Amino acid sequence: MIKIIPIYYTIGIIFTLTYQHEGMAGGLLVSLPLISVYFILRDQELIKESQERALIDPLTNLYNRRYIENWFSENLPGINQEKRHLSVLLLDIDNFKQVNDNYGHQKGDKVLQFISRRIENSVRDSDIIARYGGEEFLIILPDTPPETAYQVGERIRENIACQPCESSRGEINLTVSIGMTFLRNQDEDKKNQDELIRQADNAAYLAKFQGKNQVCSYQ
Ligand code: GH3
Ligand code: MG
Ligand code: MG
Repeated sequence: MIKIIPIYYTIGIIFTLTYQHEGMAGGLLVSLPLISVYFILRDQELIKESQERALIDPLTNLYNRRYIENWFSENLPGINQEKRHLSVLLLDIDNFKQVNDNYGHQKGDKVLQFISRRIENSVRDSDIIARYGGEEFLIILPDTPPETAYQVGERIRENIACQPCESSRGEINLTVSIGMTFLRNQDEDKKNQDELIRQADNAAYLAKFQGKNQVCSYQ
């Protein structure tokens, strides 16, 4: 919206100048094409804004599931073909239902925002973070081999576990379970989006099964 404000002012100035010399008809003749351009640009910008909004989760301000699906569709063929590394982490908050039950749904929402910021602070700007479901987050680490991805997963887990979320009724201790899967540059097998998500989900399930608050790789 900011970008079209100068156009708006320019039209005003041009109209005023032409109006002074040529009268109302002249002013309108010169300004009308510019007004049309203004409306076209404004519409394009509104469409772009709403398209971008459709890919963002409004609660956490992270990307949403649709963005992830688009990202995989656009990037996975090239990554598979060029045999580049890719690591995918699925994070599920441990015992989140208890947070809602004990502190209320609104505080639960605040905890989702709190966890989102902790994840953001634990990864590179080029990594992709999405709220994939209710209390599940998907983190894509492009060009990242398994060993590094494990360190990143551990860093996220620790950053959440070591810093409780403040509440009016005291601190809320939070932990997360993280499942990981990978595309390795030496792998012959190409994996599609569904396989990657299913494998990360299986690994997260293993992390839960083994006692939660841990990072597990897909076996
Ligand atoms: P586990 O450790 O096995 O993952 O247990 P859990 O309690 O985290 O998992 P469970 O699947 O039993 O509960 C998930 C809860 O997440 C239940 C649901 O109400 C809550 N939830 C999902 N989306 C939202 C949301 O947008 N806001 C809030 N406040 N809660 C949500
Ligand atoms: Mg869950
Ligand atoms: Mg959970």
